[in-house]
Amino acid sequence: MTDFQTHAVENQPPEFAPRDLWADDVALREALAREGGGAHADRVAGYGALAGGELYALSFDAHRDRPRLRTHDRFGHRIDTVEFHPNYHRIMEAAIEHGVAGLPWADATPGTHVARAALCYLHNQAEPGTSCPLTMTHAAVPVLRQSPALREWADKVAACRYDPRDVAIAGKSGVTLGMGMTEKQGGSDVRTHTTRATPLGDGDEYALVGHKWFFSAPMSDGFLVLAQAPDGLTCFLLPRRLPDGGKNAFALLRLKDKLGDWSNASGEVEFMQARAWRVGDEGRGVATILQMVMLTRLDCMLGSAAQMRMALAQALHHAGHRRAFGKRLVEHPLMRNVLADLAIESEAALALSMRVARAVDASASDPREAAFARIATAIGKYWVCKRTPAFVSEAQECLGGAGYIEESILPRLYRQAPLNSIWEGSGNIQCLDVLRALAREPESGASLLAELEAAAGMDAGYDAWLSGLKADLAQGNVEEAGARSLVERLALALQAGVLLRAGGPVADAFCRGRLDGAHGLAFGTLAAGIDFSAILARAWP
Ligand SMILES: Cc1cc2nc3c(=O)[nH]c(=O)nc-3n(C[C@H](O)[C@H](O)[C@H](O)COP(=O)(O)OP(=O)(O)OC[C@H]3O[C@@H](n4cnc5c(N)ncnc54)[C@H](O)[C@@H]3O)c2cc1C
Repeated sequence: MTDFQTHAVENQPPEFAPRDLWADDVALREALAREGGGAHADRVAGYGALAGGELYALSFDAHRDRPRLRTHDRFGHRIDTVEFHPNYHRIMEAAIEHGVAGLPWADATPGTHVARAALCYLHNQAEPGTSCPLTMTHAAVPVLRQSPALREWADKVAACRYDPRDVAIAGKSGVTLGMGMTEKQGGSDVRTHTTRATPLGDGDEYALVGHKWFFSAPMSDGFLVLAQAPDGLTCFLLPRRLPDGGKNAFALLRLKDKLGDWSNASGEVEFMQARAWRVGDEGRGVATILQMVMLTRLDCMLGSAAQMRMALAQALHHAGHRRAFGKRLVEHPLMRNVLADLAIESEAALALSMRVARAVDASASDPREAAFARIATAIGKYWVCKRTPAFVSEAQECLGGAGYIEESILPRLYRQAPLNSIWEGSGNIQCLDVLRALAREPESGASLLAELEAAAGMDAGYDAWLSGLKADLAQGNVEEAGARSLVERLALALQAGVLLRAGGPVADAFCRGRLDGAHGLAFGTLAAGIDFSAILARAWP
C-alpha cells in the first residue's frame, strides 16, 4: 500500500453482472418445460446471457438519460417526437428481434406464448421500461387481427424487426404499437370517455377529437384507442403517420414526470381531427380491446415476477459475499429466513405467471383454458403486482446501505415496482373483475375450481385452505368490500396448487409459510423447521 492509500477495499461483493439469467434460474427452466414451452428452450436460453450482460449494462444510461419531448423542429414545424438515449433503441432492437414482442405471432406452434412469457421475464429483469412498448406491441395483435384491413400491421409485428423511423407503415420492416384508453375524467371507468369519433363516409375511417391523459410509448407507429362513435364507445387504430406519409393530427403536450419507468416515455396527447380506422363494431370498444388487455395484464404479472427475481438475485449475491459479525450474511439464521421467504415468493410469482401463459397458449383450442386464462389473469395481476413493492423493499434492505445506491439497481427496481399494479386496471379493478367473472361467467368459476382441485390431496394445509374457499364460493354473492380478501385467498391457493403439482422444496415451504396462519406480515417470518438451505440453493444465481 502506498502512502496515498488509506485503506484496502475488502468485504464488498464482486460485480453482479454480466451473468446468464437463464442458466442462473432453475425455477424458470423448469416452469418453461412444465407449462409446455420446452420445445422452444434453446430460443429462450439464447436470450439469458444477452439480457444479463449487454442489455443489463445498457439499461443504466437508458434510465439515467430520460426521453425528451420535441414538439417542434428548429424551423417551427410541429414534429411531436420523443428522443431516446441510443441504448433504448439497442435494447428495443434486441428484444424485438428475439421475439419478446412477436414470437407467438411469428410462430403459431404450441408453446410459443409460454416461451415468449419466459423471454418477457428475462427482459424485464434487465430493463423494465422498454417492456411497456414491447408488451403493448405484442398484445395489440389479437385486436388488429379482428380487422382484415389491418393485416399489414399484425404482419409487421410478427416480422420481429425493429424499425424506429418515423415514416408510414408501408416503408417499414417492423412496427410498434401503443394504447390510449385513460382520459382525465376517467381511467378505470372508460364509459366516461369524451374523445369523439366522427365517421368520414361509409367506410372504417373516422376523425378523432379529444385527448388521452396517459399515452405511453408515443413514438409507436400506431395506437389502439377508445373513443365515442355515434353508436357508443368504439376501438380504433390511430396511426402516427398517415398512409401518404403525412403526420397525423395529434399533438404531444408533455411527457409525464414519473416516479420511475424512466427509460420509457409516457405522454399526454390531443387529437385534432386525427384519422383512425375502426376495429370491431361501433359500441363494442371495450369487448374489442379486451383481448389486448388480458395479454397486457399477463405481462404485468411477468414483469413484476421478473422484478422480484432480479431483486432476489441481487440480495442473494450480496449476502453470499458480504460478511458481518464474523460470517457471511447468508450464514446468519435470521437473514436465511428473510432470503428463503423472498425466494418462495419469487418462485410462486413466476410459477403462477407461467401457468397463466400456458392457459393463454391453449386458449384458441381449449375453452376451459380460455376461461381459466381470463379469471386467473385478474387474480394473478392483482396479487403478484401487489406483492412486488414490499418484496423489492425487503430485498433492498438485504444489501444494507448499498441497496439504496443507484448503481446497485435496487433503487430503480423500487421505483418501478408499483407501476404494474396501477396501470391496466389497478388492484381494486382486478378484484371487482374477479367478482364479476364469478357471478356472470360460470365457466370461469368452474375452470378455477378444476385447477384448484387438481392439487387436492397433496398437502393437508392446502386441502383445508381449499375447503374453506369452496365453502365461501358456494355461498356466492361476495360483497364488493370483501373482494380483495377473496382474491388474495384465491391467488395463494393458485400459487400453492401450481407449486404442489410441480413438486420440489418450495411447495411445502409455501404452504407452511402462506396458508397455515403462522407466518407474519413481514418477510422473514417463516416457521422453524423449513428447509432454508434447499430453498436458497435452488434460488441461488
Ligand atoms: C406510468 C404509467 C403509464 C401509463 N400508460 C398508459 C397508456 O399507455 N395508455 C393508457 O390508456 N393508460 C396508461 N396509464 C394509465 C393507467 O392505466 C391508469 O392510471 C389506471 O388504469 C388507473 O386509472 P386512473 O388513473 O384514471 O385512476 P382511477 O380510475 O381514478 O382510479 C383511482 C383508484 O380508484 C380505484 N377505483 C376505481 N374505481 C373503483 C371502484 N369501482 N371500486 C373501488 N375502487 C375503485 C382504482 O383501483 C384506483 O386505485 C398509465 C399509467 C401510468 C402510471
